[in-house]
Amino acid sequence: PELIDQMVEMFRVQADKKSLVLNFTLDGRLPDYVMTDEKRLRQILINLLSNAIKYTDKGKVDFHIRYRNQVAEFVVRDTGPGIEKENLDRVFQPFERVRNSSNAHRPGTGLGLTIVKLLTEIMGGDLQVKSEIGTGSEFRVSLLLPWLDQSQAEDTSKSQILGYEGFQKTLLLA
Ligand code: ATP
Ligand code: MG
Repeated sequence: PELIDQMVEMFRVQADKKSLVLNFTLDGRLPDYVMTDEKRLRQILINLLSNAIKYTDKGKVDFHIRYRNQVAEFVVRDTGPGIEKENLDRVFQPFERVRNSSNAHRPGTGLGLTIVKLLTEIMGGDLQVKSEIGTGSEFRVSLLLPWLDQSQAEDTSKSQILGYEGFQKTLLLA
């Protein structure tokens, strides 16, 4: 819950600057502690939420979480320009940016979604995207996030399940 609160707070500020509404909804109850790589989960959410806000000029961004049976589904939906069907695969490739109104004058390296895809795969999760030109985009990441009680959380917080080196290797292989 602490990580999610931080994300919502941080991106509400960004959304406000563009007069966008950031709508957060939760289905289920978030446990106090889950087993995950917090840094990587943060990276996934930051990339999806920052894209939604960056590419949307009017309307709203919905951030929805569903937590059930130890699986968390993170949904980020926007009312932005959308992505053409034929480009939906490309946006996950490194350094690929779709050259249309969605990124005209919007700086970026084209790595955000590549990172989201790789991290989701490494963490054994699932990534789905739906998008329609003129309507908006929806990115959905599902991850197994087993809940822990406080003593388990304290025990495991020192051990790193996925280190930076493991991630780097995967990035090189991709
Ligand atoms: P950065 O590396 O800084 O994230 P980026 O935002 O261009 O740069 P990605 O996040 O990988 O890179 O996104 C790739 C491309 O996909 C973007 O350039 C943009 O064209 C398109 N895109 C991503 N998210 C959205 C969105 N929510 N709505 C519309 N287009 C999007
Ligand atoms: Mg991006």
